[in-house]
Amino acid sequence: MDLKSGLPFWLIRNGLTKDYLTLDDNIETEILIIGSGITGALCAHFLCEAKVKCIIVDKRMASTGSTTASTAQLQYEIDVFLFDLIEKVGEENAVKAYRKCLESIYTLEKIIKKLKIDGDFDWRSSLYLASNAAGLKDLKKEFDVRKKHQLPVTLLTQKQLKSKFNIDKKGALYNDCSAQIDTFKLCNAILDYHKKHSGLLVYSHTDVVKIVNKKDHIIAHTANKNTIKAKKIVAAPGFESQNLLKEKVIQLNSTYVLVSKPMKPNDFWKEKCLIWETARPYIYIRTTEDNRIMVGGFDEPFQDPERRDKLMEKKNEAILKRFKKLFPDSKIEIDFYWCGTFGETKDGLPFIGEHKDHPNMYFALGYGGNGITFSVIAAEMIKDLYIGKPTDSDLFSFDR
Ligand SMILES: Cc1cc2nc3c(=O)[nH]c(=O)nc-3n(C[C@H](O)[C@H](O)[C@H](O)COP(=O)(O)OP(=O)(O)OC[C@H]3O[C@@H](n4cnc5c(N)ncnc54)[C@H](O)[C@@H]3O)c2cc1C
Repeated sequence: MDLKSGLPFWLIRNGLTKDYLTLDDNIETEILIIGSGITGALCAHFLCEAKVKCIIVDKRMASTGSTTASTAQLQYEIDVFLFDLIEKVGEENAVKAYRKCLESIYTLEKIIKKLKIDGDFDWRSSLYLASNAAGLKDLKKEFDVRKKHQLPVTLLTQKQLKSKFNIDKKGALYNDCSAQIDTFKLCNAILDYHKKHSGLLVYSHTDVVKIVNKKDHIIAHTANKNTIKAKKIVAAPGFESQNLLKEKVIQLNSTYVLVSKPMKPNDFWKEKCLIWETARPYIYIRTTEDNRIMVGGFDEPFQDPERRDKLMEKKNEAILKRFKKLFPDSKIEIDFYWCGTFGETKDGLPFIGEHKDHPNMYFALGYGGNGITFSVIAAEMIKDLYIGKPTDSDLFSFDR
């Protein structure tokens, strides 16, 4: 699958990271992880910390799937409002899922500090703007539910939004516990750390094309006709799960991102907070370490790369126009742009854990606009499942 096109900023900013060798032998391990994006890297992290012997393989160069294309905003609020999620999965589970997303941001910060690695992690405040009267009504309802469940949130009126942020919208939800990262840098740093310190083996350009279950082990066959024998497989293939899983669990969408030239310090809004909005299609906004503005959005409900790429110029214009409506005085100019694929589930939650038709496998399918927070949750949960620690994996099970 063609996951992205254009010039993903992170790849240019970080340059080519160290590549890994292609597997050319038959090998054996305790756990095989398929996919070296941020999900696979975090799975490797938790398993290595639990002293489990792991091998990670990727059919591409390490970390160059969707992880390279991400805008990497970390927010506890998922694409689906909490009040909507309650309708879909019940109050207890919905609130648990939101809390887990919040915790996952702190967990990621702890990992970065513990390993002393760099992923440009920065705490940020976040604004969820009401684009119109209907949006404001939804945000008020959402505010009440989140307050009831003691989730961190403030409701800003139109006047407060204007005076504090100089943004002219009907109101907004505000929180100060969001963050932003460079996922590509972080993913590579995690792989590198565990390769050096935990004996993690990483193979790129190693495509798993067939999986065969045996009584007490599982064998992955690669396109190069090698085998990897393992006790368990962790599938972290990103949006290409359809090759490993028969049923369709996601709707694939295309999304578009642009990055500005570096801006002067006073070209930014207060707190350089993350911004998104209730309008559909929406835009989402963040800044980068080197003082650029990154704006994404204007999603399309299809994945076809040819159709997706043809729309790139038009989407840039639309994103820029929406941004300028919000910040009419901005001198923003585009430096890089790209488009990527992302998947959504019906209820906005990921699929994590075992699947009845795939014994000896764990799936880490963290979908949606909050894929990275879901990756953290999936990685820790799968480690716990493997070592036999109780988990809340029912929340994200395939038969929920
Ligand atoms: C434009 C864009 C913006 C986004 N913004 C955000 C955001 O702001 N916040 C957020 O949390 N999330 C965001 N996301 C989502 C987030 O980036 C993804 O959820 C996350 O990067 C997925 O990581 P992953 O490791 O699961 O998948 P990937 O990075 O795609 O990694 C999976 C890897 O598995 C490999 N693979 C697949 N099948 C096989 C196989 N059979 N054999 C071997 N290897 C295989 C692939 O080559 C790939 O490298 C965004 C996504 C996009 C595209």
